[in-house]
Amino acid sequence: MLEIRILADPDEDDGSGRTVEVRLIARPRPDEDPLEDSRLFAAGDRERIVAFVAEMLERHAAALPAPRLECCRRCDRALDPEAEGDGRRPFVCRSCQQAAARGPRPAGPQGSGEGVEVRFLGTGDAFGSGGKRQAAIFVRALGSPLGLLLDAGPGCHATLRAEGLTSDDIGAVVLSHFHGDHYGGVPFLELDAMRSGRSEPLRVIAPPGAPERLAALRECLYRDLPLRFEQEITEALPGETVGLPAALGGGSARALAARHQPEAWAFSWKLELGGRTVVYSGDTGFSDELISESAGADLLIHECTSLEALPGHTSHRELEEAASRITARRVLLVHTGEDVLGAAGLAFERAHDGLRVVV
Ligand SMILES: [Zn+2]
Ligand SMILES: [Zn+2]
Repeated sequence: MLEIRILADPDEDDGSGRTVEVRLIARPRPDEDPLEDSRLFAAGDRERIVAFVAEMLERHAAALPAPRLECCRRCDRALDPEAEGDGRRPFVCRSCQQAAARGPRPAGPQGSGEGVEVRFLGTGDAFGSGGKRQAAIFVRALGSPLGLLLDAGPGCHATLRAEGLTSDDIGAVVLSHFHGDHYGGVPFLELDAMRSGRSEPLRVIAPPGAPERLAALRECLYRDLPLRFEQEITEALPGETVGLPAALGGGSARALAARHQPEAWAFSWKLELGGRTVVYSGDTGFSDELISESAGADLLIHECTSLEALPGHTSHRELEEAASRITARRVLLVHTGEDVLGAAGLAFERAHDGLRVVV
């Protein structure tokens, strides 16, 4: 670690208030004594300050640990962010990304029950438009002891309770992306699981980067409460099919690249469970691929943030224009903004908080 401190009021200040002390502290390892160097400068003497910092960097460079190369999470080869990142932090190398898109991982055994219940806990946008709660949808194959939660917006733990459910009813949390209105509720699910003494592992299936994002959120909100149950995080890749736990009746979740966050992956999800197909858009700009993927699905849950075009989201106009190509048996709109909530004569049905459907 290299620390640079600029002290505005050193002891040697001549009283003019225009002397600064630049102190460099290089700490090769936490248990070793730091190497320190400091010098006084006139506050405005940028050139000499920059030259001093450069000189110190050069002098101490050998003592600092070499930068750690980031490796692919799947095969452990060093990553090349330029070639493999597409502007995003890659996490996984190009060849593993391609392998994931080519072939699905084997799914768990299919559940014996036919049909799924879908409970809409939160159907609102990021702004709470219309007083609606943020994204969270509980999906359970009929007859299965556990269900999965599609996104976990803030407050979803309380909504679960209001619906007679708790985190103990969740076998997997499937996240579309790392915007707060979609995953901000995860630490509270974890807290709830710890209080109930959860023994089952909680599976989280999410875009790449999930371990860091979830740990950072936990660190912010409950630093003093480390997890006391097993959490299995699966970082899915675009096009990849992930098997769901047997306690959910098996089935699979397929990650479809959404058009939402340029710097990080955002996914739509195609769920196969309980003998049914449920497609969830997450947050996405209008996507023809998603409409194709949802052809013949039992349920398409599609975001509709606004009536007219909005970058990174889908408008009602776009869905209306594509209506003849949307062949899912039932379509429900979520992530609905104020104008969509206030409009009459929409092409598709709006979901509302508390809605339960069985398909
Ligand atoms: Zn959102
Ligand atoms: Zn978002």
